[in-house]
Amino acid sequence: MSPVPGVTSATRERRPYPSARALDGQARSILFDASKCIGCRQCIEACKDWHDLPRGDTYRIGASTWLTIEPPVTEGMAHIWGRNSCMHCDYPSCAAVCPVEAITKFEEGPVVIDQAACIGCEYCVHACPWHVIAMDNVTKRATKCTMCHDRVQQGTAPFCVQACPVDALHFGPAAEMEARAGTRAAEIGGSVYGRSEAGGTRVLHVLAGSVAEHGLPGVDSVRYPIQIPWSAKIKGLLTINGGLRGRWRAIENACTKPWRLTYRYWQWWHRHWQ
Ligand code: SF4
Ligand code: SF4
Ligand code: SF4
Repeated sequence: MSPVPGVTSATRERRPYPSARALDGQARSILFDASKCIGCRQCIEACKDWHDLPRGDTYRIGASTWLTIEPPVTEGMAHIWGRNSCMHCDYPSCAAVCPVEAITKFEEGPVVIDQAACIGCEYCVHACPWHVIAMDNVTKRATKCTMCHDRVQQGTAPFCVQACPVDALHFGPAAEMEARAGTRAAEIGGSVYGRSEAGGTRVLHVLAGSVAEHGLPGVDSVRYPIQIPWSAKIKGLLTINGGLRGRWRAIENACTKPWRLTYRYWQWWHRHWQ
């Protein structure tokens, strides 16, 4: 049991990546109520506004689109909608595999990629069970939703939450969002997604239909469900990502924290011993 309400005990364990406090250490969650969503995509436009991202394709996750609403059809063309974006995992696979510790998990929830530290190796892209990290073809760095970390730090809600015209998005203390999601799911005879997947996440979905109908993947409850194909591992070893400086940082990290390598190369070990 965590000694601080709303903060998972996981934040106090030895983590294979940097963790930090942005505000008060109280865990927060985004709650997406799919039964209220109308597919208007105001949330996507708001995300682009706040983060100054190009308009581009709003139907596919990419360097300029950190959030999609599924299925990829216009408003009015579907009766069931889903949100696809970073889940801000309590045990983020992306951060566990990063060879230069460029990804930080904040106690308040956000999992954030440091653009200056990223060397563009793409391990995180492969490791994420939700496939919500994209490479920026210009900067050659990994990008994704930040949970509007800058806004959370100021005590305000993510911009997508603020933009929803039908109250399908909420943000607040983790325990409060959890209770709200449970009550709503019971009301509509639906279910809550994101509570146990990958060991727990900071984005809860109230689903009216099946997981697949909402365009979401089935992810089991094991922590760090990392599946990096061997081709990607070999490519990563043979490519000098981030130049000589980037390679040096990766080697230095591997030498000083060799146990971190197990997350990238021997996932079965975690599946059996976590
Ligand atoms: S959903 Fe993917 S990108 Fe987001 S924290 Fe989890 S593993 Fe990382
Ligand atoms: S691309 Fe590589 S260096 Fe950049 S955040 Fe992902 S794992 Fe870390
Ligand atoms: S939380 Fe922020 S970064 Fe993430 S999808 Fe919403 S607006 Fe975009």
